[in-house]
Formats: sequence, structure tokens, C-alpha cells
Amino acid sequence: MEHRKYVIIGNSYAGVFAIEAIRRHDKEGDITVVSRETYHAYARAAIHEYMDGIIGDSQMYYRDRDFYERHRVTTILGRAVTGIEPRENKVVLDNRQKVGFDRLMISTGGIPITPPIEGSAGPGMFTFTTWDDAKILRDWVKKQKEPRAVVIGGGLIGLQCAEGLKHMGVDVTIVELADYVLVKALDQLAAHRVQKWLEKNGLKIITGSTVESVNRVKGVVTGVKLKNGEKLKCNTVVLSIGVRPNTGFTEGSGIKLSRGILVDNGMQTNIEGIFAAGDVAEAEDFLRKRQDVIPIIPVATMQGKIAGSNMTGKKRAYPGGLPQNAFQFFGKNTVSIGNVIYIDKNDGFEEIIRDEGDVYKKAVLQYGKLVGILSMNYITRIGIYNSIIRARMDISGIKDKILSDNFGFLDLPEGFRDEMLTKPG
Ligand SMILES: Cc1cc2nc3c(=O)[nH]c(=O)nc-3n(C[C@H](O)[C@H](O)[C@H](O)COP(=O)(O)OP(=O)(O)OC[C@H]3O[C@@H](n4cnc5c(N)ncnc54)[C@H](O)[C@@H]3O)c2cc1C
Repeated sequence: MEHRKYVIIGNSYAGVFAIEAIRRHDKEGDITVVSRETYHAYARAAIHEYMDGIIGDSQMYYRDRDFYERHRVTTILGRAVTGIEPRENKVVLDNRQKVGFDRLMISTGGIPITPPIEGSAGPGMFTFTTWDDAKILRDWVKKQKEPRAVVIGGGLIGLQCAEGLKHMGVDVTIVELADYVLVKALDQLAAHRVQKWLEKNGLKIITGSTVESVNRVKGVVTGVKLKNGEKLKCNTVVLSIGVRPNTGFTEGSGIKLSRGILVDNGMQTNIEGIFAAGDVAEAEDFLRKRQDVIPIIPVATMQGKIAGSNMTGKKRAYPGGLPQNAFQFFGKNTVSIGNVIYIDKNDGFEEIIRDEGDVYKKAVLQYGKLVGILSMNYITRIGIYNSIIRARMDISGIKDKILSDNFGFLDLPEGFRDEMLTKPG
């Protein structure tokens, strides 16, 4: 194999899994990772638990400290890539240094969406997507005599941030534009139950409205005004209405974008030798069979692994991304996989529901095939459900069992079981 120079932009889930895949197939090539953040790869999804002190610095890392040395990776941390020159095969850093590559992977993730809100510029206003964001917010809140926060956005990140703040003794109100929280992950019934649970644990939630302006007196945040006219007192505002692919630095490079960087099923962009993976990439959605950005960890890791492998020449095809969320709020778990929301009975959809006390489970079938699973307060067999969705098998014959407590591997058709046992991971 020719001696290759691999450059990876972004040092998070997609980047780490790409490094491991490259080293598996190419023991000799040079690997350089460039990252804007100064940290060794850390658990972005745990920043709320770090903020409220549930976990400490050392628990934020999901790879050993010697990860880069063992994989013989040169790290350029604390430096942002500001441009890509595909004709020169070079990336340009914010100190004007240029780094050459034979194969490049872009895994720069997402950046928070920050619409213009009157009065938002200045202290007391935060976003919440990086470890530094969590540290800055924690330090700010600790300085407030009576910390009172408004979190704009009731999606996963907003709610996790709100829980973290609540654990720190902050009075928190969440303002969500949709009629219910977690609108992208849950159906209405499940979302209402999560919402009740959050309220029981002391969070205030306002739905169907948003923040119109942030009020300041001599520059200090004193409250917010909502679209419905309501005014809320606060000294802290967290803007958490979603993230968008972080693609700005690709401008002028010729790399094709839609919402994110468009990639084929080998995770390669329109430019040969340049790949993309993770929250920045727009790849095939497994169920809907169209390109989309699915900003979750399982998708970022799988895409990183596949891009890394293909960068070495070892061909692997991306099977498509499947939305899946597993989260816990104040000790209660919820999992949702695939499509649990868009259900059209005229298009072969069917729902099977088990609603018993605290446990709510739902399976969504389309023309006999499992396309979605939602499970609250009863988290088990998630791996099997995932495999059934991926297998696109007709489960009409076992659909009455699928949500029962004793449903398991042995209920699956024999051919499918054999495939599951023999398929490499
Ligand atoms: C608070 C929070 C909670 C979450 N909870 C969950 C969860 O429970 N489950 C789940 O599946 N997903 C969750 N997510 C989403 C998940 O974290 C992302 O899907 C995942 O981090 C994407 O990984 P990635 O490698 O694509 O990019 P990211 O993790 O976004 O990392 C991007 C990397 O690129 C670097 N970078 C950015 N721009 C540049 C540049 N110009 N030059 C150089 N480097 C650059 C950054 O420093 C970073 O290293 C959560 C996200 C957040 C913010």
C-alpha cells in the first residue's frame, strides 16, 4: 500500500471511529487530527452531567489517555480549519498553516442555531453544545445570588441542560415553540408523560410559544418576553433550539452541500479523496431512503468507521442511518428508534401499543415490517428491535408478541436468528 497522509478535521465521535478504522487497515500511513476544541475526545452528550457535578473530568473521556500515541496520530488541538484547497490537497488552519493530505475526512459536527433575538447579545446568554459551554454556564450560575434560567427549546439538548441546571439549584423554565417537548423523538402521549415527569421534578415548561426579546437593565439580563406577551424573570438564558451542520469553512472548496455535506454510500463527497461523517454529513436515511442529517452518536460512529475504512481503500458501504434516541431524565428512561411519529394508516402503517401504568411501549409497523419502537420506563431488547428494523423482515406473524415481556430472540424466525448470529459486528 502506498504511504498515505490522512487528515481528519474534528476530534469527536466520527473522528475517533475513523482513526480506529484507518489504523485497522493501514498500519503505516500518517494520521493527523485537527480540532478546534483543545480537549482529547470527550463525551459531548454528558456535558450536562459534568455541569452539575454528577461526573468529573476523568469520566468525560471515552478513550484511554494514550489513544493518540497508540494509534500514532499527530494532534493539532485548539486550531480551527478555515478553508480547504482541494486542488492543492491542503487544509488551511486559523494560523494560516497549511496541512497536506492524500485523504481527508470532515467531521466538524454541528453548531447551535442562533436566530436574532432582540437583546440577546451580551452576558447572561448561552448556548450548550461543548464542554466549554458547560463550564462557562456552571461558573456563571454559581455567581448568581438567585439563579433563574430560561431555556429556549424543549428538545433533547435543552431538556438535558435544564435538568443539569435544576440539579444545581437553579429555578428553570423551558420555553418550547411546539405543542409539546421532544417533538422530534416522541409521540404526543409519550412527550406529555415526560413533560409531567419533568414538571414533577420542579421544571416549569411553557409550550406553544417562544422568546421574543431578552430584557436587560444596564446590560444585565432581567428577564425575557414571550411571543404570547408573557414576561418571565431570569438572569440566565440558554438558547437551545437545535444545531445545524458546521460547514462554513468549506465555502469555495467545491464540496457540495445541501443541509449538510452530501456524501455517497461510501461517505465520500463529490470530490474524490474527501470524505465526511457525523453531524456535518448528509447521508442516506435508512427508512426514508433519502439524504438527511441525523445528528446522533450511533450514526456519527458508524459513519466515521465506514469513512475511515474507505479512506484506506477497504470498501465498506453505509447501510443508511436510523434515528434513535435513548435518554434519561430524573432517573426515568425512554428509548425511541426509527419512525414513531409519522403514521399514515393509508400507507400501510399500524401501531401496536402497550400502556400499563408506568410502562408505555409502542411498535410501528408499515406493511408488516417494523419501522419504529418507543419504550418508556421499560428498556430492554433494544438491540433486537434495532436488528428487526434493519432486517426489513415481515413480522406480521409475531406482531402480537413483539411488546410482551417475554418476547425475545427465540420468537424470531430461524433464518433471521442464524443471520444475526453469523453476521460480523
Ligand atoms: C448536550 C448534548 C447532548 C447530546 N445527547 C445525545 C444523546 O444522548 N444521544 C445521542 O445519540 N446524541 C446526543 N447528542 C448529539 C451527539 O453529541 C452528536 O451526534 C455527536 O457529538 C456528533 O459527533 P461528530 O463527531 O459528528 O461531531 P461533534 O461531536 O459535534 O464534534 C465536532 C468536532 O469538530 C471540531 N471542529 C468543529 N469545527 C472545526 C473547525 N472549523 N476546525 C477544526 N475542528 C473543528 C470540534 O472541536 C469537535 O472536535 C448530544 C449533543 C449535545 C450537544
